[in-house]
Amino acid sequence: MEFIPAGEIIGEAHRVRTVGLRKSPHLPDGDYTFVDMYCIDPDCDCRKTMIQVMRNGIHVGTINFGWESPEFYRKWMGGDEDESMPDLHGATIDITSPNRVSPQGMLSFFHALLDEKWITLIKSHYSAVKARLAKKTMQK
Ligand SMILES: [Zn+2]
Repeated sequence: MEFIPAGEIIGEAHRVRTVGLRKSPHLPDGDYTFVDMYCIDPDCDCRKTMIQVMRNGIHVGTINFGWESPEFYRKWMGGDEDESMPDLHGATIDITSPNRVSPQGMLSFFHALLDEKWITLIKSHYSAVKARLAKKTMQK
């Protein structure tokens, strides 16, 4: 699965979220930008995003976020109850995350910001990316 920023596929329609953070006990001050990236396989319906967290322009961490239920991902992965399966539901730190700031701090910051509005935006980016990819595939 290859992930690329939504902006590279849907352009102007993509809105990246930036939040200024001051005096947090867990993270250094700075402007944190969340660049949501999506899988570019048009036939894959993984329903997740990989979010690159940038602090003052430097990539400090990577978060995986799956908005569907745990049951959805279990079925999608093939349905067995294997406990060793990665948890795709909810937010986790990606294995490739550079962790230049506290990963736990980053996850709690993400959770604090996560609301229905943001989830809706992420879902709409996902659909827009998949729709654009499907169109590209048909044109080939
Ligand atoms: Zn995928």
